Amino acid sequence: ARKLALNKIYEGGAYMYSKEVELEDKERSNMSRTIKDSLEKGMFRVYFQPKVDIVTGKIRGAEALVRLLDKEGKLISPGRFIPLAEENGQILEIDNFVYKETFRLMQKWQQEGEQVPLISVNVSRLHLLQDELPQYIKSLSDEYGLKPEQIELEITESVFFQDMERLVAIIKQMRDLGFVISMDDFGAGYSTLNFMKSLPVDIIKIDGGFFMKNKMDDKNKAVISAIMQLSNNLHFKTVSEGVETDEQVEFIKEQGGKYVQGYYFYKPMPPEEFEGLLEEKRKGGACL
Ligand code: C2E
Ligand code: MG
Ligand code: MG
Repeated sequence: ARKLALNKIYEGGAYMYSKEVELEDKERSNMSRTIKDSLEKGMFRVYFQPKVDIVTGKIRGAEALVRLLDKEGKLISPGRFIPLAEENGQILEIDNFVYKETFRLMQKWQQEGEQVPLISVNVSRLHLLQDELPQYIKSLSDEYGLKPEQIELEITESVFFQDMERLVAIIKQMRDLGFVISMDDFGAGYSTLNFMKSLPVDIIKIDGGFFMKNKMDDKNKAVISAIMQLSNNLHFKTVSEGVETDEQVEFIKEQGGKYVQGYYFYKPMPPEEFEGLLEEKRKGGACL
């Protein structure tokens, strides 16, 4: 319980030792061991979820999303291991794997003559606190023959909660190197409205929580519409995440939104399937 309380020190509160705490602790150690073994045995995979330009129907980009294969070959979703990995530092190794695997695939597709759209990877808070991150990602992309302009770095809104100045400086360095920067999960957490004007980002990803299974009621629409207008006035592009219905796509269009990532168009898919999609779109003359 003391360990848990220490981990959560910034959120305040207290923990009392109980059977549940013990079980939770066991589950966490098991998962942590699974992550370690899976890294060693190469059981992590990278899936890709396309982002669609709803005006032209073209594929404008894709997000690389990590998956873990368990012993039976079933996929474990990141929701089950990313929060723990962020707490214990294993996220650094997971993300390094995702960067290398994503860049390797981008290089392969490029060499095969595909038009590779902008591909995004997620950057965790722990990584952003490492001063060498910008140079590290730059040398990695050099190694795979990629230009920084081909890579988008997604940074979740909630990282800005502490060390804001330092994080903004690192993000600015990455942007100066030529990487495209987006703010992920916008609107889900701590409000960053007051410093939106000084953020060194290119894209605002509107959090899936506004869409997904939600019925588009008037209040919800008002918030989405305000975020889009503000982004537009500040010259940020927007990507709406978690879009699942016709009605949502129509509403985004009406509001002047252009880019959508959601089950309505595509679910995250294995690399072979994404490559097939690029190929198909290229033949139809409709990729980038
Ligand atoms: P995220 O970066 O905001 O990714 C979007 C999540 O929304 C993905 O979940 C995606 O599968 C899901 N999604 C997209 N469209 C829809 C939709 O229409 N409906 C619904 N219900 N869901 C949709 P996923 O893959 O489970 O990832 C969850 C989160 O885990 C990600 O949120 C991201 O924060 C984190 N994550 C995933 N891969 C990585 C990674 O390689 N590194 C790091 N640091 N974090 C990752
Ligand atoms: Mg993301
Ligand atoms: Mg998101």
